[in-house]
Amino acid sequence: GEIEKQNLNEIINKIAPLLMAKALVKNQLIITELNTIPDLFLNAKEIKQLIINLVNNGLEAMSDNGIVTIKTFQEGKNTVLLIKDQGQGIPPNQINRIGESFFTTKKEGTGLGLATCYRVCNHHNAKLSFETGKEGTTFFVVFTNTPGNI
Ligand code: ADP
Ligand code: MG
Repeated sequence: GEIEKQNLNEIINKIAPLLMAKALVKNQLIITELNTIPDLFLNAKEIKQLIINLVNNGLEAMSDNGIVTIKTFQEGKNTVLLIKDQGQGIPPNQINRIGESFFTTKKEGTGLGLATCYRVCNHHNAKLSFETGKEGTTFFVVFTNTPGNI
């Protein structure tokens, strides 16, 4: 009963202050670029966790003053959520372990953040993918706007 037709942009705007609080510790910034998108059937609690996990990873991947961009836009029938950081990227030898439960390269990491993201996307029939390189990493969540996408 937690699934409601709602706008992803509103969820992002609600949690932005929470994310900014973490960013400020390292003088980092979170920028949102929210374009007009249709409402989707979403579990707000899960979607918040998805965004928090991806943004936290972005902030943790960057040194001081880095910027994480959260962007939404429509691409044909798909709604895209993009979360981009300015970190060093994911080393090639770690790429196939991304999303594996308990895989972490952090001293105090749990390695559960991305596994949760994949599960949330699965619940929403959304596709999670990423592009990574020396200039940073971008995670893409692609929702399909079919009636009752969840
Ligand atoms: P945790 O953050 O607790 O380590 P996650 O599942 O969130 O667990 O991430 C697993 C690992 O994937 C991280 O330890 C890190 O090595 C890598 N990773 C995830 N997101 C990024 C990113 N944006 N940039 C670089 N590496 C990342
Ligand atoms: Mg994490």
